[in-house]
Order: sequence, then structure tokens, then C-alpha cells
Amino acid sequence: MDGHTPSLFWVPVFGRRQGSQLEKDGVRTSTVVRVLLGVEHTVVESVEAGQAAGGGVVLVVRVRPDRSARSRCSRCHRRCKGYDQEDGRRRWRGLDFGTVAVVVEAEAPRVRCRVHGVVVAAVPWARAKSRFTRDFEDTAAWLAAHAPGSVVAELLRTTWRSVSSVVTRVVAEASGRVDRLAGLRRIGIDEIAFRKGHRYLTTVVDHDTGRLVWAAEGRNSQTLGRFFDALGAVRAGQLTHVSADGAEWIHTVVRARAPQALLCLDPYHVVAWATTALDEVRRGITAELKAAGRKDAAAAVAGTRWALVRNPADLSATQRGTLASVKDTNRRLYTGYLLKEQMRAVFEAKGEHGRALLAGWLAWARRSRLPAFTKLAKTVTRFLPILRNTLDHGLSNARSEATHTHLRVLTRRSYGFHSPEALIAMAMLTRGGLCPALPGRTAQLST
Ligand SMILES: [Zn+2]
Repeated sequence: MDGHTPSLFWVPVFGRRQGSQLEKDGVRTSTVVRVLLGVEHTVVESVEAGQAAGGGVVLVVRVRPDRSARSRCSRCHRRCKGYDQEDGRRRWRGLDFGTVAVVVEAEAPRVRCRVHGVVVAAVPWARAKSRFTRDFEDTAAWLAAHAPGSVVAELLRTTWRSVSSVVTRVVAEASGRVDRLAGLRRIGIDEIAFRKGHRYLTTVVDHDTGRLVWAAEGRNSQTLGRFFDALGAVRAGQLTHVSADGAEWIHTVVRARAPQALLCLDPYHVVAWATTALDEVRRGITAELKAAGRKDAAAAVAGTRWALVRNPADLSATQRGTLASVKDTNRRLYTGYLLKEQMRAVFEAKGEHGRALLAGWLAWARRSRLPAFTKLAKTVTRFLPILRNTLDHGLSNARSEATHTHLRVLTRRSYGFHSPEALIAMAMLTRGGLCPALPGRTAQLST
């Protein structure tokens, strides 16, 4: 909007005549506007309504920091000497007042900080380098953690890109306040693909809280080395269990940096391996039938996929029917299915019983004559010592698995993240316990 368009109304918040009715009304308005904006240490100078660029009304609230908040460095908040006025007035988007868009306007002077040099002065209503007020940003971040990105962007009259930058700023501030690596004992290390498998994140989850505690772009020993650098030798020495998938580079770094910790294999990876092997069996049979000219039979086998990979408890009536017919008509496919299910049973049983089931599974898979499963039996044998650690220590954690699933969904969401940092910030917001409370409500930490 143009600052010079004729206002629809203008509320002078400072009376010209001392003690007049005007001054009293003005002061009252100023207080109400300050409460609506959710700001402290701020003086409201005027409220003006104008035409927004695309039509509609915008309230422009002119403000200034109060005496205690004036002339402070935007990096360290030390009081500094003024430097210049830089480029005049700046604007910040605030939360709507009802259905009316709100813009906060103020001078943007620069100060000279002894440590940080010439910087824009801090303002009490917004984070440094933001074009939004704090309440707007906290609301945007909370919404981003709880609703689809397109909904958040439309509701807040902004773009997903802006919401994503807000999340990055809010998370950066919140992570500066808590030490997420304190008190770690049992952790899970994982790698997650994004950008259609062209890039990777290495993530660390606390098994005891289910929280994401660390993430960085990359998937190699240098990336993971940075986690152990941040953790430090003393705290690395306090880790008791570290779970991972079959990636040797993770095992190597963990053995070097936390040799006392028991390495375990994450159950959901092993079950995923069995599901992949089953898929391979199904595709192989489909291809054989096609090659033999039995198109209908090939289509029928191809259509069994969901009945086969879902947990039996989640099957629909139709899927149970499909499974029963596989049992009667397709021995090899049904064997693959049973092998997948027994692998799940291994981790549900855990301990001695789990070990016995696993030994049985290995013997069965080896003589199954299903190449995908004989191959998987070799992989499982190779990881047997750390698989037994998993069974003996019951390291099958529903919360860390939920976090893992959530991260995978996040990386597949339809809207993109403009940088790995934006994706990590979003992951920290939703699974790292760094989601702010909604402004004006009782403070609470979201998990
Ligand atoms: Zn400073």
C-alpha cells in the first residue's frame, strides 16, 4: 500500500492538548493496539487505515521502541551509540486484527555495536532480519507444525517460502535456548533421502524421548563425525546403545567415537528389508507369468501387493480374501509372505524367544528357494551380532519409529523446501520439541 493514500480513518494516539478527552482516548487506543499486537516495550504512535495494493483494508500501526528498548544491537541486545537512519521507515507484517491485515511501521535506525559493528537496531516486536512480528512468526511456525503448508500460506496471506523462512528463524532461536544433546543415552542414527534420492540427511533420534536431536545434510563419516564433535567425548562416553540401519560407515564411526555403546540394528529397517524381498518375489512371479503369456494371472499376482505388505491386523475383508487365494494358488508367494511376517514376529517377541524365532527364520529363508530371501538370509547373518543386541535390549521403540516415519513423510511432502536447512528446521519444529506455543496461550512444549 502507498503511505500517501487517503486514510479511511486516523486515530491520534497522542492528544495535542494536555488532559483533554482526546488524550485520554488516545492513550486507551494505544494500549488496546499494543495488546492486540502482542508487543512490549513499544510505543504506538498512530493507527491508520489504508487501501491494500490488491484492494481491501490494511491497518498501518506506527510504532517506536520505548526508552528501555531503544538503541540496542540486533545481535546481542547491548545498548549502543546511534549510527544513522539507514533507509528510513521499515514495515513488518503483523497478525490480522479480525479479518483486517495489519502492518507495523517504524524508523529503522542503525547503531554501532562494540562487538558487531554497524547493525540495524533491535526492535522489540520482531526478530532480527524478519519482515514479520514475533506473534506472526510464532503463529506461522505453530500452524506449519500442525497444518498443510498451502493452508498456512493462504490463511496468513503469504507464501510457503516465507513460512519456511519463518520456521528456520523460530527454530534457530529456540535451539539456542536448549541443549538438545544433554543427557543422551540411547540414540538412533539414520539416513533419509530427499530431493528424489539425490540428497541425504543424517539424523539422530533420542530413543528415550522419541525426539529428533540432531540433523545435517550428507551421509558419510564426516557428517556423522560432526555430530560426535558437537556431542563431545565425555557425553559420547555416556551413550549406552546406538541403533542404525546396515550402513557400515555409521557402524565404523560409532565404534571409533563411542566404543562402549552397544550397536543395534533398528527393527523397522530389518522388517523393511523383508518387505522389499517379498516385493521382489512378487515381481519375479509376475514377470514369469507374463513371459508365459498368462496375462490375467500376471495381473492378479501384481494386484496382491497391498494385501501382502500390510500388517495382517490392518487388512480389509477384500485383502484377506486376496491373501487366502494366494495361500491356495501361489505357494512361493505365500512362503515369501510368511517369511516377512515371521521377521515382524521376531521383533515383537524380542529376547530369548526372538532369538529362537530368528534362528528358525534363517533356516527357513536359506532353504526357501526364493533368491530374494536367501540373499536376505546372508545379510541378516552378517549383522547377526548387532541384531541379537537389538533383541536382547528390546530396542524397538515406537516413538523413535514414529519420528522416523514422520521425517520420511516430511521429505515427500508436495511443497518443496528451498534448502536442506529449511527441511531440517521443519523437522526440528515438528519432531525436535522446538515448536513455539501459540501466542497468548499458556506456554507448552510440543513434541
Ligand atoms: Zn552486538
